[in-house]
Amino acid sequence: MALPKQSEDFPAWYQQVVRTAELAENSLARGTMVIRPYGYALWEAIQAGVDRRIKQTGHSNVYFPMLIPQSLLDKEADHVEGFAPEVAVVTHGGGQKLEEPLIVRPTSETIIWATYAKWIQSYRDLPLLLNQWANVVRWEMRTRLFLRTTEFLWQEGHTAHETSEEALKEARMILMDVYKAAVEEDFAIPVLTGRKSAAERFPGAIATFAIEALMRDGKALQSGTSHYLGQNFAKAYGVEFLGRDGGTHNPYATSWGVSTRLVGGLIMAHGDDRGLQLPPRLAPFQVVIVPIYRDAERTRVMEGVDKIAESLSGIRMKIDDREEHRPGYKFNEWELKGVPLRLEVGPRDLDGEVVTASRRDLPAKESKSTIALSELATEVPKLLEGIQASMFRSAQEFRDEHTFRPSSYGELSEILRDARGFVEAPWCSNPDCEAKVKDETKATIRVLPMDPEEPGANCIVCGNKADENAVWAQAY
Ligand SMILES: [Zn+2]
Repeated sequence: MALPKQSEDFPAWYQQVVRTAELAENSLARGTMVIRPYGYALWEAIQAGVDRRIKQTGHSNVYFPMLIPQSLLDKEADHVEGFAPEVAVVTHGGGQKLEEPLIVRPTSETIIWATYAKWIQSYRDLPLLLNQWANVVRWEMRTRLFLRTTEFLWQEGHTAHETSEEALKEARMILMDVYKAAVEEDFAIPVLTGRKSAAERFPGAIATFAIEALMRDGKALQSGTSHYLGQNFAKAYGVEFLGRDGGTHNPYATSWGVSTRLVGGLIMAHGDDRGLQLPPRLAPFQVVIVPIYRDAERTRVMEGVDKIAESLSGIRMKIDDREEHRPGYKFNEWELKGVPLRLEVGPRDLDGEVVTASRRDLPAKESKSTIALSELATEVPKLLEGIQASMFRSAQEFRDEHTFRPSSYGELSEILRDARGFVEAPWCSNPDCEAKVKDETKATIRVLPMDPEEPGANCIVCGNKADENAVWAQAY
């Protein structure tokens, strides 16, 4: 069951953690994934936090069908060009060839905007602020569990607005108040926020904003995107409204999503050589209680465990009373599964009216403390909060240590080739410079500032005047 070391083979480490922690496995159709109960509980906790924030910011959930007439996709040129290569098409149904093939949604702008044409007539119908939780299919050639699978789960928000300012404000608000907030507060992962360059934009978007997180191997993971779509989709699908001025206008659109990819991000941002490390706010079990006894002591210890469990109401908890495994085996397994806090309860603990607590986020030597039984109800929530905060701090320290500001192109390309982390440097906005870096190092521009500012230095690639600082990294 020993994991490969992260420093020796990070991809193998990742694959084995996903499998041995029982998060997910490959399924029968190529590139598809079965999410197992422990992995799905994690996804449900992620979903709950994102959904709460989506609703708090004024959006409602809806559900649109998975099958979309092919002709709908063809109406928005950039969009169809971007997605056509990875679209799955249904040609037969009920044993007969279909008159018009149906595509399996790779994303839902097309069906949603075709429907908005019926729902939006007047400025009084705006803004329209909707979101759906759904599965989508993109025919991926190279797949990896959670990070890139042919079918994945996500939420996609689709909003319509009277003005471009309002739509842009919405796209940025989602990025900051929903995605950044969820990933930093729930996942304990600091993120960079910013705009994408034209090369990295969503097909059909005018501006794409993203949050980017740093993984333990020095690569970036795009963890959420929010797009300002202008009037492209409204025009393509004939959505018009009567404005306050009595004239006819096309509304402005946004779309935005996060997916099961976030589970991969959580694994790679916090995991270590012992396995997963889950932040208390998302952990399916925040606490695992491991009773320790010899046969004669069993009844007494288990009575103690039951009392302890009672005093921890409101905490997501697992009592591991399996007879067939020894405590040491259980410790390893729950460490691998990333449970934030372990409580050990043996006869000696009960004699002293304490339990032994062990934190997953600290090295083994520093991780243990004892908690008086009478203080469990207050101390355990406090410890969990402390773990959440310290996980964020250590992820932030890791990111700071892996953020570089090189002064020459040679230095920049060396750091990027080795995937040592984020590299911030001035860029002239010329796609040729961006392409050169990509060709030579595989790294791409992850984000540009939300509001560009002249860096007061020349482009690190070509030496011409720079417009802004770009952040580069190798990425998943
Ligand atoms: Zn340049």
